[in-house]
Amino acid sequence: MADPVTGLVPPGRAQITQCPECKGTPGLDCPECDGTGKILYRACPRCGDIAWDYINDRREMACRISCGYRWTANDPGWLIQRLPDTQVVAEPHATAERNC
Ligand SMILES: [Zn+2]
Ligand SMILES: [Zn+2]
Repeated sequence: MADPVTGLVPPGRAQITQCPECKGTPGLDCPECDGTGKILYRACPRCGDIAWDYINDRREMACRISCGYRWTANDPGWLIQRLPDTQVVAEPHATAERNC
């Protein structure tokens, strides 16, 4: 579902990868990914480079290497970078063993 403000679909330009700690298994009590099995790497809202820097005491971010864009934590293209709501943690007991 697209965000009404930006028209972007979560996670925007962010990249989602499988959590290396729990090997992407949702439902585990994994501190690395909060049990989602996924890790979100936030990217520059303009060019999508994930090699951005914090500036101004971490109040702003800057894409120094690629496009030079600077943004704050309130940037719509930044806020949209979150795990989609549909990727909620699965019920731990939903996949109970069945021996048929
Ligand atoms: Zn994990
Ligand atoms: Zn950039």
